[in-house]
Amino acid sequence: MIIDYVQARERMVQEQLVSRGINDPRVLRAMAKVPRHLFLESELWDDAYGDHPLPIGADQTISQPYMVALMAEALGLKGAEKVLEVGTGSGYTAAVLSELGAEVFSVEIVEELALKTRAILSSLGYRSVSILVGDGTLGWEEHSPYDGVVISAAAPCIPRPLVEQLKIPGHLVFPMGEKELQTLVRIRKDKTGIREEYLGECLFVKLRGRYGWED
Ligand code: SAH
Repeated sequence: MIIDYVQARERMVQEQLVSRGINDPRVLRAMAKVPRHLFLESELWDDAYGDHPLPIGADQTISQPYMVALMAEALGLKGAEKVLEVGTGSGYTAAVLSELGAEVFSVEIVEELALKTRAILSSLGYRSVSILVGDGTLGWEEHSPYDGVVISAAAPCIPRPLVEQLKIPGHLVFPMGEKELQTLVRIRKDKTGIREEYLGECLFVKLRGRYGWED
């Protein structure tokens, strides 16, 4: 079967994103542009633009397109911001953030995934993404502070170092909760302190590391 991937992405944008209320035109453009299938093994390409996560090896998944778009929109990026991502995985979310104009610093705990993803991002020309192998719940202090931080795995609590590494003002967007019960949370840090907002239910793999779930 020959698939028109450009058309598949347009359909994904209309049917999965616009229909659920994603309306930031920059986010929609980025989602229409990033070739999601190229972040997956070729056996999965036919299914790449479906409304679900997919396996990427090491028991991990590429996030559902809607969740990537929702988190990107929640960060409120205008272009040229510095963003920290925890959980690089396939690199798809990092690529979307990069299309939004951000300089992306992404931390991945599984070395095998980090190395593979670094090669894919570089072959696709995403030069504004840097990947570090390590525990992302500790952040990446060297490049802090960040305008936005996004965690692509579910955390048991707010990882304190990530709030500390946020600029004022800045947003931290992450899923909080257990295996089957998670809420997408947005923390806003400003001069008056920290505010928490709930953006709805979601389903991510569990976050590991110091401020994650125990292995
Ligand atoms: N946004 C990614 C999602 C990958 S799934 C994508 O679309 O492909 C979540 C990723 O978080 C996994 O690759 C997992 O290995 C990684 N991860 C889990 N705990 C982590 C931690 N403490 N630090 C860094 N990465 C972590």
